[in-house]
Amino acid sequence: APAPALLELRDLHVFYGAIEALKGVELTVAEGEVVALLGANGAGKSTTLKTASGMLKPRSGEVVLRGERVDGIPSHELVKFGIGHVPEGRRVFARMTVLENLQMGAYRLRRPDPADLDRVFTLFPRLAERRKQVAGTLSGGEQQMLAIGRALMGKPELLLLDEPSMGLAPLIVQQIFDILREINEQGTTLLLVEQNASQALQLADRGYVLETGAVVMSDEASELLSHPRVRAAYLGEA
Ligand code: ATP
Repeated sequence: APAPALLELRDLHVFYGAIEALKGVELTVAEGEVVALLGANGAGKSTTLKTASGMLKPRSGEVVLRGERVDGIPSHELVKFGIGHVPEGRRVFARMTVLENLQMGAYRLRRPDPADLDRVFTLFPRLAERRKQVAGTLSGGEQQMLAIGRALMGKPELLLLDEPSMGLAPLIVQQIFDILREINEQGTTLLLVEQNASQALQLADRGYVLETGAVVMSDEASELLSHPRVRAAYLGEA
């Protein structure tokens, strides 16, 4: 039997003023999966993640978490429901230390767990070494690690990641993807937006392709990787 759905997005319509950015997005993430969300600039990938994390409220449609409707619940409340969001551009607290940033990730929890900090420092030894460093002076890759670590401090069952590889050198991108795999193997479900379609589909179980606010393809990641249309549009092949 298929794993039960952890997240379901049902017929989402999301507007910015008069602009309809999502035109009926449907998407399911099963417990334990890694799902990649691909699409060109402006297709609506970030908008989809922001709606799933409660940062945006859909005009119509539903965000369903483990069978329960959560659209309309603000993002800081959704942390308690087990959704973590690593936004585009990382957005760490630049003037706070690494440790303070991580502690901020746990402050909404009813019962912060010291083991979570150990887990993050084990996943990211670089952050452990730099725990007292001010976050604004970290490299881009380290800031991305910190943004992921901070989200993990909220004990997410589902981690939403918006372009974790953006602007990073290939070696660092590989490290980040290796760690994402480890995080998934430890039991966290991942929904990942990526321009780097090749890396994302190698990590993912399944993928969705968005075009102008709607899902135009969805399939097993291996199928998408070999699909001529995906290869031409997102993997840089003619
Ligand atoms: P990118 O990879 O460039 O971030 P994306 O697929 O994540 O693209 P979104 O950021 O979700 O796309 O944007 C979807 C559409 O909504 C685009 O047409 C964009 O211009 C529009 N949009 C996004 N944010 C806003 C905003 N704050 N105000 C108005 N329009 C917006």
